[in-house]
Amino acid sequence: MKKIGYLCVFVMLGLAHCEENYKKDIGSGPLVIRYPENNEKMCIDEEVQLKCTSWRFGVEANNLGPWKTIPEECDDYVEDYMLGKGYKLDLEMVSKEAGAFAASHELVNDGKDIWVFDVDETLLSNLPYYSEHGFGLELFDHIEFDKWVEKGIAPAIQASLELYQEVANLGYKIFLLTGRSIRHKGVTIENLVRSGFHDWEKLIMRNPEDHAKLATIFKSEKRNEMEKGGFRIVGNSGDQWSDLLGSSMSIRSFKLPNPMYYIP
Ligand SMILES: [Mg+2]
Repeated sequence: MKKIGYLCVFVMLGLAHCEENYKKDIGSGPLVIRYPENNEKMCIDEEVQLKCTSWRFGVEANNLGPWKTIPEECDDYVEDYMLGKGYKLDLEMVSKEAGAFAASHELVNDGKDIWVFDVDETLLSNLPYYSEHGFGLELFDHIEFDKWVEKGIAPAIQASLELYQEVANLGYKIFLLTGRSIRHKGVTIENLVRSGFHDWEKLIMRNPEDHAKLATIFKSEKRNEMEKGGFRIVGNSGDQWSDLLGSSMSIRSFKLPNPMYYIP
């Protein structure tokens, strides 16, 4: 939060500077926006903002190759996005569209229509952890992250909780498919229940033999098993493309925003 404070002061100073130049410019001639010249500081800020928006678009559209950390120049940008209104609005948009699709789809109502949810950054938010670790600027540290997971205090993503309840009320069976290790089963269940998630059909986690598998492979295999069990995967919600792509894909996939990390 301290960092945010600094950022705001910096941005406000930048804006004040910008406004001053702007006023000078409109003193004569037609009333059109004239971008101040010789103001590299402001232009750099704007350029970073644009570059990082471009980068985030690449992330969300799955255009970027595997990446390990966010670009250094985008640290404030990602922090601002995650803690500001942008992330919240994007989550709400995904949830709303997913809910509309879920309601429009005709269920067979034999208990075999299912919705798959990922857990981290889909149902539960690890933002408290990432806010202490540079919002993706630091290399992922399994040991430190496991300590956080073991606390079992990750809050619910509100928009996803609403979608979860909506699809359950519509009659979908809910499958939770997560890359978390089976050794975190107890704490994950406690955390999910504490955050408001109940009555899922199955929680599928990585067994020791799954640990070396890419998420895309692991999750495809598990979806394949669901289909073999006669289930129809209508919807799938996840913050990584590896939650959604591969084989036995859902009829509709819903990608939640996450510019902090990439899981292949
Ligand atoms: Mg996830």
